[in-house]
Amino acid sequence: MSDKIIHLRGRLFITFDLEAVTGLHIGGSDSGIEIGGVDKTVIRDPLTNRPYVPGSSLKGKMRSLLEKYHAKPQNQRIGQGFIHSCQTDKEYATCDICQVFGVPGERNFGTPTRLVVRDVHMSDQSAEALEKANTDLPYTEVKTEVSIDRVTSAANPRQMERVPAGTVFSPAELVYSIYDGAGCDAQKDVQRLRVLAEGLQLLEDDYLGGQGSRGAGKIAIQNIKVAWRGGASYIGEAEMLGEYGDLGAFVQDLDKVIQTISAKLNA
Ligand SMILES: [Zn+2]
Repeated sequence: MSDKIIHLRGRLFITFDLEAVTGLHIGGSDSGIEIGGVDKTVIRDPLTNRPYVPGSSLKGKMRSLLEKYHAKPQNQRIGQGFIHSCQTDKEYATCDICQVFGVPGERNFGTPTRLVVRDVHMSDQSAEALEKANTDLPYTEVKTEVSIDRVTSAANPRQMERVPAGTVFSPAELVYSIYDGAGCDAQKDVQRLRVLAEGLQLLEDDYLGGQGSRGAGKIAIQNIKVAWRGGASYIGEAEMLGEYGDLGAFVQDLDKVIQTISAKLNA
């Protein structure tokens, strides 16, 4: 048995609207498709049939972009490819990405993953607009992509289901926990909020889901709210620390947000 103590000091709640600026394709399971149907379907909430953005897609994309931006070694096999995951406690101690986004459970040096990313559902307003618009499929459009076989010149049309441009998913929620003890340092966690902001900026400049290099998946992060819960008592309303129209405004105020939380932890 270990007697290590991990002290959860508080949590930051970052909520925002996620707008599909261009058509968005986040793949669902393509099994069970009838012949002649769409071969690239989007993931849907089984209860409402509305497409949604899984938290895992959002988190995975941010992480992957951060790993590349910070030139982290791609050393962990996952499915067809590789991701970064610290192999030693020494590496991990200074790796903001693994501290924030997590390491596999079998690593005995891992501290709690700081970041939780919730699934993001389509806003009711967007859903109602799409219901009225009579799209190809419920809430989505079908785009035909044609690839040409370079040898035979045969056209190979494929159908791609996309959430139309302009659709808003809301609220997206990131929950960022701040810890002390057992290898955690709350003040370092507060500073690591920069990594999170970087991840959001990288994501906005890149794309979410499939077909990004062909124009799909550009997203905008809007109406950002930052709230805090922690300190002497965890119950009650989260304290609002700031509201921002877009990511640029949030990033501009980030130093102040970091100072505010840092001061709360020192109080
Ligand atoms: Zn790492």
